[in-house]
Amino acid sequence: MAKKPKKITSSVKSKPSSKGIWVYNFEDTPKADKQSLKNLLGGKGANLSEMIRIKLPVPPGFTITTAACNEFYKLNQTYPASLKNQVNESIKKVEKKIKKKFGDASNPLLVSVRSGARVSMPGMMDTVLNLGLNDKTVVGLAKKTNNETFAYDSYRRFIQMYSNVVLNVDHHNFEDLIENYKLTKGVVLDTEMEANDWKSLIGSFREQIKKETGKDFPQDVNAQLWGAIGAVFQSWKNQRAKTYRKLNNIPEEWGTAVNVQSMVFGNMGDDCATGVAFTRNPSTGENSFYGEYLINAQGEDVVAGIRTPQNITKKARLESSSKALSMEESMPKVYKELVAIYKKLEKHYRDMQDIEFTVENNKLWMLQTRSGKRTAKASIKIAVDMVKEKLITKDEALLRIDPKMLATLLHPTLDPKAVKDVIARGLPASPGAATGRVTFLADDAEQLKSQGHKSILVRQETSPEDIHGMNAAEGILTCRGGMTSHAAVVARGMGRPCVSGAGTIQIDYKNKVFRVNERVIKEGDIITIDGSTGEVMVGEVTTIKPDISGDFSTIMAWADKTRTLKIRTNAETPLDTKVARDFGAEGIGLCRTEHMFFDEERILYVRQMILSKNTEDRSKALKNILPFQKKDFIDIFKTMRGLPVTVRLLDPPLHEFLPKSEKEIASVAKILNISEQEINNRINDLHEENPMLGHRGCRLAISYPEIYEMQCEAIFEALVECRKAKIQSVIPEIMIPLVSTAKELEILRTLVDKIANQVQKKYSIKIDYLVGTMIELPRAALNAYEISKHADFFSFGTNDLTQTTLGISRDDSGKFLDDYVNSNIFKIDPFVSIDVDGVGQLVKLACESGKKYNSKIKLGICGEHGGDPDSIDFCHNAGLNYVSCSPYRVPIARLSAAQAKIKSKH
Ligand code: PEP
Ligand code: MG
Repeated sequence: MAKKPKKITSSVKSKPSSKGIWVYNFEDTPKADKQSLKNLLGGKGANLSEMIRIKLPVPPGFTITTAACNEFYKLNQTYPASLKNQVNESIKKVEKKIKKKFGDASNPLLVSVRSGARVSMPGMMDTVLNLGLNDKTVVGLAKKTNNETFAYDSYRRFIQMYSNVVLNVDHHNFEDLIENYKLTKGVVLDTEMEANDWKSLIGSFREQIKKETGKDFPQDVNAQLWGAIGAVFQSWKNQRAKTYRKLNNIPEEWGTAVNVQSMVFGNMGDDCATGVAFTRNPSTGENSFYGEYLINAQGEDVVAGIRTPQNITKKARLESSSKALSMEESMPKVYKELVAIYKKLEKHYRDMQDIEFTVENNKLWMLQTRSGKRTAKASIKIAVDMVKEKLITKDEALLRIDPKMLATLLHPTLDPKAVKDVIARGLPASPGAATGRVTFLADDAEQLKSQGHKSILVRQETSPEDIHGMNAAEGILTCRGGMTSHAAVVARGMGRPCVSGAGTIQIDYKNKVFRVNERVIKEGDIITIDGSTGEVMVGEVTTIKPDISGDFSTIMAWADKTRTLKIRTNAETPLDTKVARDFGAEGIGLCRTEHMFFDEERILYVRQMILSKNTEDRSKALKNILPFQKKDFIDIFKTMRGLPVTVRLLDPPLHEFLPKSEKEIASVAKILNISEQEINNRINDLHEENPMLGHRGCRLAISYPEIYEMQCEAIFEALVECRKAKIQSVIPEIMIPLVSTAKELEILRTLVDKIANQVQKKYSIKIDYLVGTMIELPRAALNAYEISKHADFFSFGTNDLTQTTLGISRDDSGKFLDDYVNSNIFKIDPFVSIDVDGVGQLVKLACESGKKYNSKIKLGICGEHGGDPDSIDFCHNAGLNYVSCSPYRVPIARLSAAQAKIKSKH
């Protein structure tokens, strides 16, 4: 769940806004805690002022607050009344500090105007550099710097940037003019251009601007400034920024600040440079200074790719066998200064920093510092190293790691350097990357596997019948279904990469092809899917193996010591169970027994059971299933030695097990010696318009108690076998699904107890077990007090609880939930992260009511939310005892539970 944006807290928000202060010079920012300052001034603004406070060389400037941005939108994109005067005052202060004047023809102050939200949104919003240049000030700049080429180069850069950002004139207009000019002059590099060349191009630029906008390029420096401020505010709501916010759960109401800062120039000659650096390696986490710089260049040249940036350190230069001198070698004095500053910054912020700097005539200026973005691997290494270096505490280290990122360490991932031919995008339903031959049928996937081939199972959507194919395939791709669709849930459980709901793909099962945007992909063609990003690619894309290093287990050990929530897993096969146990699961929170019904050997008996016309026949068929179920349970109990195992009795409607194709019907009819017509009649009888709300869950057992009786017998007999074999016993927790009334549970608990008694008597053995229920219907949550009278535990089935509370089908939500998120109705898909205000309220109520009757009642969650970090935080605070999630999310849950505990302490 996206965190509610922290209100800009008291001291800061109330003070400046009540006094109507919208602008702060970097050296005059208010006193407040770090987060409140970031909220008000944006990350960049807050850090600039902090760098000044710790006496680092920062060019003077000021920040227009995020509150001003919000006010700007409130006032229909006009500025608050007092803003103009405040900006003018702040400019005066900058002029005084730097001893230059804004718009002055002989000694002009030039500024950069940059966005700066609370968290960094790299490249999403707009920036204008060299603002304050016009036909007069450019002359002053040329004289003052004694460098006409530099002055006119700066002016043309400003015109290009300003026209693009503020006047909406496309880049290519200018690039074409420059290219033509260079061709005519016969030069290739910008550095070969002279003052007169730029002067001439500036003339052409201005003509082009007039042609495109109908107006002259503004010469008034104040008009330039206000144009740029407005453009930065507006860029908060451009499409790029909106998409970035959505992907990163950044609330729109945060707004962006605007930083206006006096320019320093890295492009005034060979004693000038500009660069970016990380205080540690952001990809590996290695504790070594890492960065790039360019001599005689302006900021954007480093990232623009026209000139190849050089290494900052000699070590990196030697490693990359580069001949171009490193900064350490070319500017040793400034380099030394930079090293001292980066060390100071890292110590001060107690985190790896991403810094930007400029050297102007051998003087070093710091333009930015912020927490550096890093890979999951680096994030773990840096956190562990910083604890060892006594820079941060273990709690801080645990909070520094984004649990969701761990997923990338547990599965093979795409090689970031690989070339990709992306043909479609769906939901990142189950992380990891997989490559294989396209196959449309589960049976074919299985066959391919037996022949030693890898496949990707491509389905409209999957159903329980496809399980074997999903298991045999390397990955699963569906065109329908959301994050909790069958494909998504099962794939995550199996640790298979899965992309679900890739809506642009159209499958033609008959011709064994799928079409997407004019392209046709045939059965047998190789595709790659990335379940961490939702991308679907043609061909093989190289992957890299997960590397779970020593640091990973160190972090996990710290997390385990910290957390109070237990972590269980949703698993039903011995393989899943083993994976989960290896990942640190402390029991099974959900064993979905229906998956055990689909095995080839037993489906026939299951179908026989369903087709039976009376109880006697049904019981006979069930007797045949019993040994299979018993063996399944023995295997699971063995793997989970000593740990709790929650076994959920049959949940889905019976028709899911029936044959579907004519071929299948014919073969079942033959084996069972009944007519195809009879099978078709039974299929018709069992048909439901709305099976999710139909004859499923405990309702099946109310109608056909013998099904649950068989399952309980299998569980208890399995326990007896384990006991006989001296295998450390588990205490099974028998879970009844889809209960809405106390009476249902009362009846079914009596059934479980009856079977337990029978088995105990038969073997003269005492068996310990618990009986409980899922809370997955609103009525059950509302009626939890009464229900708890018959329950030893509750497990929240938040997949169904979300579906039934919101009245939104979990399988169809993918089609429109995006619109709800885009319209800000939901901050995030409620099937992914718990809907705190709705479903969450029901969970809390049920916990309280359950505890009122039975203070010892065990409380857990087994819906998909059990593996989502924000939902885990919610579960911790709601007082749950455990969360249960798919095996590959167990490490994520361990860390999230620790984070929840740490946060709740503060
Ligand atoms: C649930 O509804 O949350 C649940 C775990 O059960 P299933 O997904 O099997 O319906
Ligand atoms: Mg359910």
